[in-house]
Amino acid sequence: MAHGIVCWKCGAALEALTLPLRRLEECPQCRSELHVCRLCVDYDVRVAKHCREPTAEEVRDKEHANFCDHFKPRPKAYTPPDTAAVDKARAELDRLFGKS
Ligand SMILES: [Zn+2]
Repeated sequence: MAHGIVCWKCGAALEALTLPLRRLEECPQCRSELHVCRLCVDYDVRVAKHCREPTAEEVRDKEHANFCDHFKPRPKAYTPPDTAAVDKARAELDRLFGKS
């Protein structure tokens, strides 16, 4: 069953893992812990404590395995680094130096 869960840190597909995730499950590629806020459906930097679940206990470390009962992995939790700004700066340089 495809669940679409990827590593929150490196983006590796985690189709080989079965759900629910064990608390100490790690990404096979980068060894990041996976039972973490960053991979959770309730993780949201726009809300207080970065968690949408009001009854959840505050987890301060968002990148290490937590004991949260509300943890539920979110598909496609990986956000690639913002390369758009870098590309734009490079294009600007190329223009200055007369390359295309
Ligand atoms: Zn990873």
